[in-house]
Amino acid sequence: MENGSKLSSNSKKWGFKKDTKQMTKASMTTIRGVITMLQENLDKDDVRSVVPLSHGDPSAFPCFRTTPVAQDAIAEAVRSAKFNGYSPTVGIPPARIAVAEYLSKDLPEKLSPDDIYLTVGCTQAIEIILTVLARPNANILLPRPGFPYYETRAAFSHLEVRHYDLCPETGWEVNLDEVEALADENTVAVVVINPGNPCGNVYTYNHLKKVAETARKLGILVIADEVYDHLVFGSNPFVPMGVFSSITPIVTLGSISKRWLVPGWRLGWLVTNDPNGILKEQGIVDCIKGFLNISSDPATFIQGALPQILGDTKEDFFLETINSLKMNADFIYSRLQEIPCIVCPSKPEGSMFVMVNLNLSLLDDIKDDMDFCVKLAQEESVMILPGIAVGLKNWLRITFAIEPSAIKEGLERVKAFCDRHAKKQ
Ligand SMILES: *Cc1c(COP(=O)(O)O)cnc(C)c1O
Repeated sequence: MENGSKLSSNSKKWGFKKDTKQMTKASMTTIRGVITMLQENLDKDDVRSVVPLSHGDPSAFPCFRTTPVAQDAIAEAVRSAKFNGYSPTVGIPPARIAVAEYLSKDLPEKLSPDDIYLTVGCTQAIEIILTVLARPNANILLPRPGFPYYETRAAFSHLEVRHYDLCPETGWEVNLDEVEALADENTVAVVVINPGNPCGNVYTYNHLKKVAETARKLGILVIADEVYDHLVFGSNPFVPMGVFSSITPIVTLGSISKRWLVPGWRLGWLVTNDPNGILKEQGIVDCIKGFLNISSDPATFIQGALPQILGDTKEDFFLETINSLKMNADFIYSRLQEIPCIVCPSKPEGSMFVMVNLNLSLLDDIKDDMDFCVKLAQEESVMILPGIAVGLKNWLRITFAIEPSAIKEGLERVKAFCDRHAKKQ
């Protein structure tokens, strides 16, 4: 080999160095990252089974199994051999029609199949819209607490994040004054998650309308994360943000992951609710199509099964899921009242989670929410997500989409843990 042919770091000035600090930090604070860390802290010698109150995948539990309608639809789609090829980048027409019909049931104006873009879960829908909206100096308004994938994704696209608070005193409503104060001429959108993860909130028609009106005043669009659509069991019905699309453009994100209990099937959608054609005029629609041209699509046979999944699933299946979630939510809420250091501001009315506040002044040797969750994993083999992972320090996110017996066992252990660590009077 010729002398000097080996590249050395000073032979050329590399031009592709990234600022990895921000991105590494962002991907460290994902829910998956924190759960992996808690798993590493579990006591392997504890003979009791682990109680997973931290994750959001109920499909592992027999009481949260998907409907046979969905299973049969997939099997038939595979056997038909009609869905073995590549799909169009926006999704196959029958699947787009099916999503348009499914969502239009709750909307005053019908969606067109052309408003529907099929995605690899709701996750890819988030990726698409944030990437499309990113431009130099742009910022986006995200809820705190929220779903940390938004922050991570924004960091990778150099989209500045500004957090508005959800208020526990008002059922985790959006602080609209704060939204107005945070926004400036570079703000592109506000994200609203309803039904809420991590708070279990379900917003009223009037509140959602106010969000849309605020967005209009600011000249921004609303990104409505409705991945928990219809998973409600309190006094408020589910109202899709798309109802207010004549006020301001709405981009709705969803998937079959949560309502059909199949997060591993990776089928979601991005929907433009835009009767005034503003997104089109602003070039957003072309950008969405452009991005889809360079990204991968949901598996074609899953798309092929979608018309049957969305169209033929019986109401009984949905009611059963909602009943299970409601019973679990009621149970967890009443049990939490018996644990003095944990304060639950409101009973969850939707999704699969509840946010609770940790009163550290009642505990002896617990530094913060992370310390609480690590020690709880070590001593009681119970996994709970520290609030810091969703943006709220010294809170906890508890999932109730697991087997009722496991919730009971888990909360007994949490109570024992809290009693043991309580400050002596
Ligand atoms: C689960 C979840 C997603 C991602 O949904 P997938 O369809 O599994 O990709 C997006 N947003 C929120 C708020 C979620 O809880």
